[in-house]
Amino acid sequence: MSTVTRESPWGPDPSVSFEFFPPNTQEGRASLWRALRRVEALSPAFVSVTYGAGGSSRTGTIDLSRRIAGETTMRPVTHLAAVGHSTAELRHVIAQYADAGVRDVLALRGDPPGDPRGPWVPHPEGIEYAYQLVGMLKELGGFTVGVAAFPERHPRSTDWDADIRHFVAKCRAGADYAVTQMFFHVDDYLRLRDRVAAAGCDTPIIPEIMPATDVRQISRFAELSDAAFPEDLAHRLEAARDNPAEGHRIGVDFATAMATRLLAEGAPGLHYCTLNRPEAALDIHRNVTGTLSPRP
Ligand code: FAD
Repeated sequence: MSTVTRESPWGPDPSVSFEFFPPNTQEGRASLWRALRRVEALSPAFVSVTYGAGGSSRTGTIDLSRRIAGETTMRPVTHLAAVGHSTAELRHVIAQYADAGVRDVLALRGDPPGDPRGPWVPHPEGIEYAYQLVGMLKELGGFTVGVAAFPERHPRSTDWDADIRHFVAKCRAGADYAVTQMFFHVDDYLRLRDRVAAAGCDTPIIPEIMPATDVRQISRFAELSDAAFPEDLAHRLEAARDNPAEGHRIGVDFATAMATRLLAEGAPGLHYCTLNRPEAALDIHRNVTGTLSPRP
């Protein structure tokens, strides 16, 4: 078995980064811009911009990435999901990314529109799996490429061996690093990392931190990810249902403990999912900040 060796494009020290989605309204755009300015002050390694996820527009992704690249000091990592595109369209979108000043792409297959758990039907002139999109981006050249990783296994994978084999195929195709799906049990991340390492692949896998501060978010998390939500955390958030400050404290404390352990276990960084509201992420960052280095 040949090995896959990668150094993190975000430097040798643990990176910090934040995920945003392109809003649909003027008010959402104004509030997002204020949020971006707040995280910019921390010199994150990158900020990522989702693509067509949760109904957001695909042109919104390019417009927002262009603005981040042109008007801030931050590097946008722009997501690209292959679902619904022919390969010609994917090439066109990639050219638009390059024109927008994007040099970093998170290459994804995407889920079926409408029902994400419905049958996967590839575009007749498109691609079937994310590793092919990684190959396309690397062939066109000039991009760092990230991919998705799943601490609880991809929901469509029948077994762990296949899941790891397919993940390693994305790395062999040229992925420089991976970002995980949200998860709430650190051991799931560590098991994934160990399985990937045992398969001869040391591509950096950055854990995604999703602050859970409100019990009403839990069904949304399940919809987005299939992540197993800890019962104890659910009970504590339920008890704080009508007390947002207490919910915030519970969620931040839980995520701080996760983040601290992940860094102690050698995670290459922390990627915060913000849902465009970075307050909890910023509080967690402040709690663990002693262990994170600013961008070089
Ligand atoms: P793949 O790597 O192609 O894997 C999909 C399934 O196919 C897996 O079960 C895998 O094991 C299997 N597989 C892979 N290769 C083969 C093969 N050769 N033969 C047989 N089976 C194979 N979606 C969006 O639409 N927009 C976003 O912005 C977005 N951002 C995301 C960010 C992160 C950090 C993550 C983790 C996910 C994101 N997603 C987004 C969701 C993602 O598109 C879905 O989770 C999708 O189901 C998986 O995409 P993938 O790139 O991992 O697919």
